[in-house]
Amino acid sequence: MRRTRKTRGKALPFTPSLDVSAWLQTHPDALIACPNQPGNLKLMPASCVKRHLTANEPRWATIGAEPFHLFVFKMNLVPCRDCKIGARLARQHKEIAA
Ligand code: SF4
Repeated sequence: MRRTRKTRGKALPFTPSLDVSAWLQTHPDALIACPNQPGNLKLMPASCVKRHLTANEPRWATIGAEPFHLFVFKMNLVPCRDCKIGARLARQHKEIAA
């Protein structure tokens, strides 16, 4: 049995009610710009700490003949391994947690 495609009518496209750039101006510490990742990546400091800690876990340290998705994951963590920004944020995060 062939299904018929439902028409969606003339609904307006979704527009977020929050002005992101205005919000970022009032919360300048919410996101940091990563100088090492491609594409002018902006991420939360907690995410940066997670990336730095994950990059320095021994199981992600070696890159060999892996399935492609693991290879890509490990290669994306390489810039985070010796990153000074990630190390500084991880230290601060540890001090806050203690
Ligand atoms: S640890 Fe460094 S390279 Fe990794 S996301 Fe944070 S700032 Fe970017």
